Amino acid sequence: MKTSISGYTKLAGVIAKPIKHSLSPIIHNKAYEVANIDAVYLAFDVEERAFNNVLQSVLNMDMLGVNISMPYKRLAYEACDEISSEAQLIGVVNTVVPKNGSLVGFNTDGIGFVDSLSSQAVDVKGKRIMVLGAGGAAKAIICQCALEQASEIVVFKRNNSSFESISKELEEISKKTNLSIKVVDYANQKLMAKEIKKSQIIVNATQIGMGEDTQIPVHSMEGINQNHVLVDLIYHPLETEFLKQGKEKQATVINGLGMLVYQAAYAFKLMTGKEMPVKQIEEMLLDKWR
Ligand code: NAP
Repeated sequence: MKTSISGYTKLAGVIAKPIKHSLSPIIHNKAYEVANIDAVYLAFDVEERAFNNVLQSVLNMDMLGVNISMPYKRLAYEACDEISSEAQLIGVVNTVVPKNGSLVGFNTDGIGFVDSLSSQAVDVKGKRIMVLGAGGAAKAIICQCALEQASEIVVFKRNNSSFESISKELEEISKKTNLSIKVVDYANQKLMAKEIKKSQIIVNATQIGMGEDTQIPVHSMEGINQNHVLVDLIYHPLETEFLKQGKEKQATVINGLGMLVYQAAYAFKLMTGKEMPVKQIEEMLLDKWR
């Protein structure tokens, strides 16, 4: 924890509602300490009517920048003067930094995912990727994998009231990036079994397996073998039932801790110009959860 705040100390933070549970202040303040950066990072629980004014503080108070969490990622996108290419594609912003008197919006979620895989020597380029779930995290990942030239993406989503609109959104992304992105019914067991065989990377972007839940997000683990990379975005627990069973089948398994840390690392770089001490941050989080 920072002990000496002075007139030189810079401010950064995360804006959301609610936000008290966020790990971002813990991650960024530890990174400032390790990287010797004179800054503090706070969580701002903000009402919607105040959001735009609070965001302008990034300029008015000469802040390093802010992260944006739910429900303000789209509002932040609309309020920024400039938007990075990945955030344009995703349509929401989770990091805002000042640049020459303007607010510039980025989305670090998909980049965090790709960097987390790279840190385990897994490259998404040229890979056929199967994504389970089609919420906010899935969309960021799909867009980034499209930008990184995955060969094809198949998304399994429940056939409910949002199926059509999400399919349309992903169709637009497919057109913009020239990548085949198919959205199919999560309930289709036969198709899922076929896609498992054809895919190289399988990503759980649902909440299935979180906390005490011991379910797996695929209908069956049949067909999963040592050639697969299984990624679970969940980091509580660090080893979900999906990863546990994947490991038994000799698949490479990657949990959500890397994505959490690497998306923060990219935001840290945007705000400070420095590399986040990723390993120390991972260790700090693991210590905290042990
Ligand atoms: P979200 O927007 O609520 O989306 C969740 C998706 O999962 C939706 O498509 C939902 O289906 C699907 N889903 C949920 N329960 C399901 C079930 N029982 N069967 C089939 N599909 C189901 O959530 P999110 O923000 O994208 O987060 C998704 C997961 O990623 C969560 O576990 C979250 O903790 C994790 N996450 C991790 C990181 C990280 O840094 N590691 C970052 C962000 C998120 P419908 O579309 O049909 O509703």
